[in-house]
Amino acid sequence: MKKMNAEIICVGTEIILGDILNTHSQFLSQELAALGINVYYQTAVGDNDKRFSEILKNALDRSDLIFLTGGLGPTTDDITKEVACKLLEIPCHYHQPTAEKIKCYFARSGREITQNNLKQAMIPENAYILENNWGTAPGLILQKQQKTLVLLPGPPRELRPMFEYGVKPYFQSQLAQPIVSKNVRVFGIGESLLETKIEDLVRCVNPTVALYAKDGEVLIRVTAKAENSQKAEKIIDQMINKLSERLDTHIYGIDVDSLQQVVVRTLTEQNKTIATAESCTGGLLASKITQVPGSSNVFGMGLITYANQAKQQQLGVLETTLDTVGAVSEQTAIEMAQGLYQKSQADFCVSITGIAGPTGGSEEKPVGTVYIAVAHQQKIWCKQFHFARNQNERDYIRDLSCLNALNMVRLTLQCQDTFEKNYQ
Ligand code: ATP
Repeated sequence: MKKMNAEIICVGTEIILGDILNTHSQFLSQELAALGINVYYQTAVGDNDKRFSEILKNALDRSDLIFLTGGLGPTTDDITKEVACKLLEIPCHYHQPTAEKIKCYFARSGREITQNNLKQAMIPENAYILENNWGTAPGLILQKQQKTLVLLPGPPRELRPMFEYGVKPYFQSQLAQPIVSKNVRVFGIGESLLETKIEDLVRCVNPTVALYAKDGEVLIRVTAKAENSQKAEKIIDQMINKLSERLDTHIYGIDVDSLQQVVVRTLTEQNKTIATAESCTGGLLASKITQVPGSSNVFGMGLITYANQAKQQQLGVLETTLDTVGAVSEQTAIEMAQGLYQKSQADFCVSITGIAGPTGGSEEKPVGTVYIAVAHQQKIWCKQFHFARNQNERDYIRDLSCLNALNMVRLTLQCQDTFEKNYQ
């Protein structure tokens, strides 16, 4: 397959009204970059055939590969396939197997099919059909005069698996050299510091090393091309070794979804349990842990002790501690974790207490001050954090508190050195 220039057009009035966030552009751009396909333009347009036609005409002039998302539904405002086929002068025909699939989908979900649902069974001539096992509208790949159009349904729970199981294999099979990527997940180091540590590696051409930062963590995608996938994997693994030497315990996993997934998996492997006592995060940590399937094997108890009284009654935090150093203090976090340890008998007891704001901060303890403690084998590791970047960052502070709590547990589980160095 020759080098292709791609662009993405997301169709949907909801997007341009700001009612929904256009996550497809980000998702597709990242996925296409990993396949070695350059994306040069992203556009969003409403369900208006004139404006959409104009945009598609432009795209056909400047790009070889065009991804269109949304507007494949059964109603009259779903215009993507119709406009694309009109422009490319491709006729559509009723496709019996697709119609049968749609009928089965409705029968399975106990809903009645209407005539307009069968509009989705009108398939453009010579189209490559991308099966939709998550909804009704099939995805389509159309080819005409050296141009390729990929039409994908709007709902993310349909588009994402269709990309993974349909689009990716389609393009991979056309690549002269397979492209393989692995995602290295990094926590506890800012993007700029990370970049300086691996500056030379980021400039590498094969494999490429791309950084994607989000709150508190960075994803490093390492992508290699080689004559076969084993060789590509070898190139990637050599790069991952270099990254590990420089980033050490900041790397929490390769091709994993989240810190909580790693924590639950490691606890399960080591046959250990965890319990939580939360103040400013109000149960968010317990919620993150229980998001992971199989967490019931390792998580038995989560307490929300928001008020001082609850901290005293449920966890045995001392009144003198609360009176002298306050609820947001190292001592309170330690007593919360110790109290939980007595109560739950879990192997790891995590406590969080802090000021999520916007009010409640002081000069000594500004908004964003958070203490996290982990009790394990009669020892305690407590850390102070300052998370606030600017005002009204309540969600950010609460989220980062949970991620750091998970990271402390992960470090204790995975890295004995950290455990020995930090425990009191
Ligand atoms: P349906 O068969 O459900 O009508 P469709 O292919 O016609 O699917 P749309 O109607 O355009 O798709 O979008 C369906 C839903 O998918 C939207 O309401 C929205 O929730 C989500 N969606 C659509 N486009 C995007 C996008 N670019 N980013 C994120 N979500 C999107």
